[in-house]
Amino acid sequence: MISFDFDYYQAETAEEAVEKYLELVDENKSVSYFNGGTEIVTYARKDKMNFDAVIDIKKIPECSVLEENDNEITIGASISLNEVVEKNYFPLLSDSSKVIADHTTRNQITIGGNITGRLPFKEALLPLLVAEAQVKTYGQDGFKTRPINEVFDKRMKLAKEEILIQIIIDKEKSKLPYYQKRKVKQSETDYPIMHMTALKDNDEIKFALSSLCAFPFRNKEIENILNDDSITREEKIDQTIENFPVPINSNLRGGKEYKEMIFRNSLNDCLDQLRGEN
Ligand SMILES: Cc1cc2nc3c(=O)[nH]c(=O)nc-3n(C[C@H](O)[C@H](O)[C@H](O)COP(=O)(O)OP(=O)(O)OC[C@H]3O[C@@H](n4cnc5c(N)ncnc54)[C@H](O)[C@@H]3O)c2cc1C
Repeated sequence: MISFDFDYYQAETAEEAVEKYLELVDENKSVSYFNGGTEIVTYARKDKMNFDAVIDIKKIPECSVLEENDNEITIGASISLNEVVEKNYFPLLSDSSKVIADHTTRNQITIGGNITGRLPFKEALLPLLVAEAQVKTYGQDGFKTRPINEVFDKRMKLAKEEILIQIIIDKEKSKLPYYQKRKVKQSETDYPIMHMTALKDNDEIKFALSSLCAFPFRNKEIENILNDDSITREEKIDQTIENFPVPINSNLRGGKEYKEMIFRNSLNDCLDQLRGEN
């Protein structure tokens, strides 16, 4: 049960949602967008989140698009993780999404919520970083389409009122060879200890990682190391760890040393698969 009262609004368009958001903030109300609702409801039930109003964005037509044409795949922000998996337009994204939470929860969790929510795992984000997806958003300045690698830095850098509307993936990138590994402590539905994804694009590895450190990342220096054929496998793995944006953190899922061992083994597998000898 949620122990506080709040107002519920349903928006039919992105314009209506943002207008309502700004109007409520002007009245000094705390507002949250409501997509799949799993995170909001979980936090509100535990009294870890409080709001005066929620604005449901699932009826915005652009947020429910899930289609592909000859050039690109478009995924609306309100598409559930199970729908992403079932359509399987981008196999790496399907593999990274089908391991999140359990099947019932994946019917509710939206791809937009997974990327913009406050939990740090954001496992569906990793394939989008390595495939250099674009994100379409709507805020006070209207619609904008930008590379996800520019918008994501530790978290999605959206303005308070800005809504993630769609994710657009280049069809060619969705067909590239890839590596994906998720490690959990016990049950498959646990939060991950580590989630690694890589794409091989023009013989170069694009690499993104979640859960090992405090936030997910894709990092140019690391990719330069992984693609440098003048150094040994051992050196690549050591230098990759040295170039993490923040150190590996210990938490309930595993100590630093254990997490590092899992990372080393997985990166070795990844390089075997995507780069052969190197
Ligand atoms: C039981 C459970 C298990 C989980 N397990 C995992 C896991 O294994 N791996 C993992 O990566 N994540 C996991 N998560 C995290 C989950 O992916 C996020 O909590 C996600 O935010 C839920 O999506 P939602 O659509 O339900 O979001 P909501 O609850 O609707 O929204 C969450 C937040 O995101 C914002 N938001 C949502 N959509 C948009 C949008 N389109 N534009 C702007 N802001 C938006 C909302 O304002 C809100 O602040 C789990 C969550 C739960 C509840």
